[in-house]
Amino acid sequence: MNAVITPEKIAISASQISVSVGNSRILHSVDLALRAGCWTSIVGPNGAGKSTLLKALAGLLPSTGPVQLLGRPLHAWSRRERARALAWLGQNESAADDLTVYDVAMLGRLPHQGWMAPPSVADHAAVEQALQTTQAWEWRTRALGQLSGGERQRVLLARALAVQAQVLLMDEPLANLDPPHQADWLLTVRALVAAGTTVVSVLHELTFALHADDVVVMADGRVSHCGACAERSTHRALERVFDQRIAIHAVQGQWVALPQLIQS
Ligand code: ADP
Ligand code: MG
Repeated sequence: MNAVITPEKIAISASQISVSVGNSRILHSVDLALRAGCWTSIVGPNGAGKSTLLKALAGLLPSTGPVQLLGRPLHAWSRRERARALAWLGQNESAADDLTVYDVAMLGRLPHQGWMAPPSVADHAAVEQALQTTQAWEWRTRALGQLSGGERQRVLLARALAVQAQVLLMDEPLANLDPPHQADWLLTVRALVAAGTTVVSVLHELTFALHADDVVVMADGRVSHCGACAERSTHRALERVFDQRIAIHAVQGQWVALPQLIQS
């Protein structure tokens, strides 16, 4: 009997999407298919269009060209439904500094709550779990504005985790995190993916990016390569996009990006 080949499930797909700001185009006809239940890293130089692409995939800015989320066009989702299915952690995200850490994380539960309804037992449980995961629980009564940059980032990550969405998009989530909390973030992402969540993260930390399943390499508003993290062609694409100033090596079972020091 022939094996039945089922098409791989795609969580988010984009077909020829472009984004313009004023008269300048900053994303050029990008095609993308991000695998469901997998972790994809988006990598590229500053200004490559990574944040713009992530926002377009989340429906946070207007783009031309269709985007599908979990098999349905983005525009066919109600805002509330979409906010339950897709959680977002932005780059340098602003948040009300006078809110407590607990209330900031509870904002992640808004798409689950009825109009004017108090948070449910499930909402409180999700917030506690998220704050425990990012080790921010002990600050829960403190105001967000009193925290350091890295502590604040862990609270904003908890807010995104509290949504318990099927798809989690994160833009530079490791910014300001110290090395142990960067490692914790990696373990959290692995646990989410093992539980079936689709994770998409923009990362400059290439060694972390190469722990993902797939890498999308961007330059000049375009995708220059999509491939598995373990493939040499992906490593070559990364070295190319960073002008051969880094090289990917295997070190103790991990892919590591080392700087190529060029004497001037
Ligand atoms: P990345 O996240 O890869 O660093 P971005 O997606 O933030 O890059 O930006 C891509 C390019 O688009 C950059 O050159 C940036 O200056 C430009 N850009 C982004 N947002 C705007 C905007 N609102 N107005 C004008 N240019 C913008
Ligand atoms: Mg960015």
